[in-house]
Amino acid sequence: MKQINRAKILKKLKKELDEDRYLHTMGVMYTAASLAMRYGEDPERAMLAGALHDCAKCIPNDKKIRMCEEYGVEISEVEKRSPYLLHSKLGAVLAKERYDVTDQGVLDAITWHTTGRPDMTLLEKIIYLADYIEPGRYKAQNLPVIRSTAFLDLDLALYLTLRDTLQYLQTSRSDVDDMTRLAFEYYDRVIRER
Ligand code: FE
Ligand code: FE
Repeated sequence: MKQINRAKILKKLKKELDEDRYLHTMGVMYTAASLAMRYGEDPERAMLAGALHDCAKCIPNDKKIRMCEEYGVEISEVEKRSPYLLHSKLGAVLAKERYDVTDQGVLDAITWHTTGRPDMTLLEKIIYLADYIEPGRYKAQNLPVIRSTAFLDLDLALYLTLRDTLQYLQTSRSDVDDMTRLAFEYYDRVIRER
C-alpha cells in the first residue's frame, strides 16, 4: 500500500465508517503494522488489511444481505441469524471491487478476521489478533496478558483469544460460527502438541 494509495483508502473509509469504527480501524491498522514488524510480515500488507478489515461493518444488515446476494457471497444459517458476521466476507469483496485490492492474502485476512480459521497464514493471524488487542479495546477479559503475549508468542495469543471468544459467545448465548470452533480446536492442538 503506497503512501498515496493509503491516503486515498483512508479518506474513502472515513466516509463509509462511523467515528468509533474509524478510530478502531486506525488502531487495528497500526497494531497490525507493529505485529508485522515483530514477525517478519510486510507492514504495508498488514496496514492495508487492517485498514479495510471492517470496511463493510457500517452497512445496515439488510443491505449487507442484499449486497452478498448481489456479489454471489454464500450466506450460512448462522450468518442469516447474525448478519453482522457477513461484514468480513462482504468486506473482502468490497476491498477488491471498490478499493482495488488485488492481493489475495490481504483479502483472505479480511475474510477470516471475525471467526478465524484453522491453520491461518501469518497475515491472517496478525489481523485477527490486531482486531482483538488494538488500543481502543477494553471489554475483553485477559486483554493485558493477550496483548503482551501477542508480541511474544503469536500462536499462544491466538489460542487464548479463540478460547476467550468462544467462552464469551457461549455465556452470552450468541451464535457460534462453526469456523470459530474449528479454529479453536486447531490451535488448542497446536499448543498442546508442543
Ligand atoms: Fe470486524
Ligand atoms: Fe474490527
